[in-house]
Amino acid sequence: MLPEAAFGKPTMDDKRATVLVIDDSPTSAHQLFALLGDDYDMLVATRGEAGIELAAGENPDLILLDVVMPELGGYEVCRRLKADERTAHIPVVFVTSYGEESEEAHGLSLGAIDYLTKPLAPAIVRARVRNHVELKRSRDQLLRLTTLDPLTGIDNRRRFDESLAKEWGRAMRDAQPLSLVMIDVDRFKDINDRHGHAVGDHCLVRVAAALRGALQRAADVLTRYGGEEFACLLPATDLSGAMQTAERMRAAVEALVFALLPADAEIPDDQRLLRVTVSIGVASVVPRDGMPPRSLLEASDGALYEAKLAGRNCVCAQRAPH
Ligand code: GH3
Ligand code: MG
Ligand code: MG
Repeated sequence: MLPEAAFGKPTMDDKRATVLVIDDSPTSAHQLFALLGDDYDMLVATRGEAGIELAAGENPDLILLDVVMPELGGYEVCRRLKADERTAHIPVVFVTSYGEESEEAHGLSLGAIDYLTKPLAPAIVRARVRNHVELKRSRDQLLRLTTLDPLTGIDNRRRFDESLAKEWGRAMRDAQPLSLVMIDVDRFKDINDRHGHAVGDHCLVRVAAALRGALQRAADVLTRYGGEEFACLLPATDLSGAMQTAERMRAAVEALVFALLPADAEIPDDQRLLRVTVSIGVASVVPRDGMPPRSLLEASDGALYEAKLAGRNCVCAQRAPH
């Protein structure tokens, strides 16, 4: 017989979904809490401002938003949520006693996904909330699949291209430097040839984690750029800051020790500990009109080439063309 869990509905994520209720009326908030509290982690805010802050901090899966509230009304709250990149992706459902068509159209035009009217019908509320949460979760899953590298769990090349375009634009607007660190594992082909692809893959996972551990700012974007090549964008960071970060990354990889399984009888004892190193090229630029983002890639690639020529396991810098 199948275990009971096998009959449960398949979930993308074991974590329970979170629903945020923004409603100034305690009665109404309480009613939603009672209806949904068994199935979701519930957050409640009784003011618009507090709701926006909670949404940005807690990243809920769905927001149930009252239209009529003192101070900041629901429409304005929705507009602000949709204008903030931290909350724009969270589906918003308006909850209101207004049932008029024009009101609904207005709410939907602001980016809300649906409308619930009071008095709330429990079965309808539960069903609609479940549908919206499931849709949101499959969208999240799809986004993960298209933007993350499955082996290392860090951003993939596609995501890097988007991040470079975005950060390039931001750096130009703010007249700030943008740095790019290109990292390539040294003699990686030898590791695969000597110990097999599984060991090679394991190395890449650990190298990615070590590189990420060396980063100190939330805005830094680490990507698996190609096979054994990683790229890291450092916004608002000049060449000297990027060189320091790159040196920390190099040292973090050098400090890794891979113990090869004793079961592998082919390997003599003195070769059971494997180490890897990386060569790193760094470039930095304050982007200007007419300068292509590729110039930064080319500059850091050139610097990486220099690092390989210089004997590997080192960091080289090159300024992007001005
Ligand atoms: P260099 O120091 O000049 O960078 O030498 P290298 O051997 O690292 O460079 P090369 O570009 O010749 O070889 C890269 C190797 O990386 C070849 C390829 O088979 C391996 N590789 C690329 N992607 C993966 C992967 O996902 N898993 C494993 N195990 N190996 C990979
Ligand atoms: Mg290599
Ligand atoms: Mg390479």
